[in-house]
Amino acid sequence: MINEINDTIMAIATPPGAGALGVIRVSGSRAIQNVNALFNSKDLSTQPGFTLHYGHIVKGNTLIDEVLLSLFRSPKSFTGEDVVEISCHGSSYILNQVLELLLKQGVRLAKPGEFTQRAFLNGKMDLSQAEAVADLIASDSEASHKLAMQQMKGGFKLRIDYLRNQLINFASLLELELDFGEEDVEFAERTELLKLVLEVKNVVSELVDSFKMGNVFKNGVYTVIAGRPNAGKSTLLNVLLNEDRAIVSDVAGTTRDTIEEQLNINGLIFRLVDTAGIREASDQVEQLGVARTLESVKRSSVLVYVYDATLPQQDVASDLEKLAYSPMATLVIANKTDLLTDLNSIPEKHLKICAKLQSDLAIIQIKEALFNLAMLDNVIKDDIVISNLRHVEALRRTLEALNQVIKGLENGLTGDLLAFELRQALHYLGIITGEVTTDDLLENIFRNFCIGK
Ligand code: GDP
Repeated sequence: MINEINDTIMAIATPPGAGALGVIRVSGSRAIQNVNALFNSKDLSTQPGFTLHYGHIVKGNTLIDEVLLSLFRSPKSFTGEDVVEISCHGSSYILNQVLELLLKQGVRLAKPGEFTQRAFLNGKMDLSQAEAVADLIASDSEASHKLAMQQMKGGFKLRIDYLRNQLINFASLLELELDFGEEDVEFAERTELLKLVLEVKNVVSELVDSFKMGNVFKNGVYTVIAGRPNAGKSTLLNVLLNEDRAIVSDVAGTTRDTIEEQLNINGLIFRLVDTAGIREASDQVEQLGVARTLESVKRSSVLVYVYDATLPQQDVASDLEKLAYSPMATLVIANKTDLLTDLNSIPEKHLKICAKLQSDLAIIQIKEALFNLAMLDNVIKDDIVISNLRHVEALRRTLEALNQVIKGLENGLTGDLLAFELRQALHYLGIITGEVTTDDLLENIFRNFCIGK
């Protein structure tokens, strides 16, 4: 892929199907010249960047479309190359005609993510920002959008660069000592180094910890609704989803015993899984259902346990003992409170509702409780949050290497070995922003983009 950066590429940048507008993006050293060949209204070659041009795209004497061209000149464009974006009418016939004309000019169809990859290779953004572009396109809630935006702005890169620069300094001093091998000199003050490494380790640990939050923002909060049969789980789920039903689907990998639905609370997506219900399994089929319930519970971050308010509290306690795995957050809901005249037997922290009545207050209370549970351990700070698995893995490796440095310092390890461990930490930090890359890594990241981005 990298060898092909010199040619000019194109792609339809708008979603497939008919729409009011369809945009074709062309990028590369011959982009302006190639589009100019189909545009008969003015000479684009003399036009400056950041300009808009109205005119016609023609095929011989045939008018293909009336278009608006946005012109960008290198390096001031998304890819860093010359870019022309052609806004056509959104008919797939027109778009394909324009692509065909450009193809004849020698423009090639772009691969997924190739525009963003060029932006990265031309130094317009670092790798973590490029990944944020993909996240931004995929973001479907306020929370995931905010996260992708923040990452795209590049604050994360600055933080990583800062850490790297501090470590590089010490690694160089340690390596300098090697040049004086026999003379037993220490350029790198060991106590200073230990202080710095501990500081860096703290910051990296915080970033690793933030992944939990980042993951929640990006992928939603896995929430399982469990309870005995007839407790009112389905009724509750319907009440909750009534207002604001998201995608209702059988999610791959789940069984007919569990369904997953999405609930958006304050911009955070809760992925609710209704389970088969727990009870003393009397036969094998039921046992299977119970086992699956327990499996779903284990995978979730939040457990919503619903019980019939007439159920004795010792049964509630025994169910909860079976279900609640720390550190999972649990919301306990006593349903069917209409069947009790006296609610004193129900512990204060259990939410008391009557799902059948579908009261707005109960819905608000449940949503509020769910939102607070998700946020409790994950106080949202207006700070850097890691949401990308690749980044968190690199950060974990960095931590391991830093721990080795710390151990080495405590055991009086020689400078060359310390330098080696420090270089390891630097390597993993560099992987995040793209200072250290391989073709395979790039292919892998950009393959997941949509075409035209
Ligand atoms: P699930 O097996 O836990 O999913 O329970 P369902 O939602 O299917 O409810 C079981 C039965 O309890 C149904 O007949 C519901 O109408 C009833 N039910 C649900 N919520 C309430 C409630 O708040 N009060 C009363 N009295 N009945 C309810």
